[in-house]
Amino acid sequence: MTATSVTVIGLGPMGHAMAGTYLDKGYEVTLWNRTPAKADGLVARGAHRADTVEAALKANDLVVLSLTDYAAVYAILEQAPAALAGRTIANLTSDTPTQAREAAEWTAARGAVQITGGVQVPPPAIGTPEAVTYYSGPKEAIETHRAALEVLTGIDYLGEDPGLAALFYQIGIDMFWTGLVGYLHGQAVAQANGISAQQFLPHAVKTMDFRYFLEFYAPRIDAGNHEGDVDTLAMGAASLEHVMHTARASGVDSSLPAAVLDLFRRGIAAGHGQDSLTSLAKVLKP
Ligand code: NDP
Repeated sequence: MTATSVTVIGLGPMGHAMAGTYLDKGYEVTLWNRTPAKADGLVARGAHRADTVEAALKANDLVVLSLTDYAAVYAILEQAPAALAGRTIANLTSDTPTQAREAAEWTAARGAVQITGGVQVPPPAIGTPEAVTYYSGPKEAIETHRAALEVLTGIDYLGEDPGLAALFYQIGIDMFWTGLVGYLHGQAVAQANGISAQQFLPHAVKTMDFRYFLEFYAPRIDAGNHEGDVDTLAMGAASLEHVMHTARASGVDSSLPAAVLDLFRRGIAAGHGQDSLTSLAKVLKP
């Protein structure tokens, strides 16, 4: 147990990348995974395979968890709750803010400290300078383990509330999934019309660069200013109908633009036809 030794529990693509990065940086790494064979390659590179969860927890002060969800966290930690005492659990498992807060209490009741993390990059970016993770929880614990955490990613510390990192992560991932599926829908229309994703790539990059719109709308959203001076829901609904018809004519499923159009129509029915699309905030959260 040294300042450069760590336990990693969970060897999906993310945990595997984390454990590999620690090995690359000369850390002594102890591993536990439900499916032990997933550790084979890392053990061949010098990692220790713990036979039990208890042994994995006892091996190091800092224990990094990278699991599918918090149900998996409990399924594992409940195998050896007594071994949690004195440990710092860097829980880089994504789940809801409520789950993160409850797990922090559950962990504290067993004498351990939970740091919540929401990793903002995919596995291949772990250990690279651009990688960042949202963190929240006890600042002191994060400072104690700063060097080890920064082996994986930069630290974007949000505050003491253990749910904050999960909340920021979920807000980001909300935009990520809906935005990326929008990209895929556009590419389905492109491909149905003989345009390859590579051919459209420079246009996709420009279209998906929302920075101008985000910086324009953010202060208006905060001020509750939904003035339709540059765009209106009525204009947006007409545009979405064109998108839907183009998708249908291309033989592409149109349920995604139809869902967005439904949202716009609800905004119009609520009297916001001449307001900006930001007035949808009132439909999304009445
Ligand atoms: P996976 O879902 O592939 O993680 C699987 C890990 O969880 C494996 O170690 C698996 O064990 C374990 N696990 C799942 N259920 C249980 C259970 N009931 N009991 C014991 N172990 C269980 O996810 P990733 O590795 O891709 O990601 C890990 C976390 O990081 C997730 O919370 C994810 O949201 C987050 N994340 C992932 C990113 C990505 O691009 N992959 C990006 C940013 C965040 P076993 O091997 O035995 O199946």
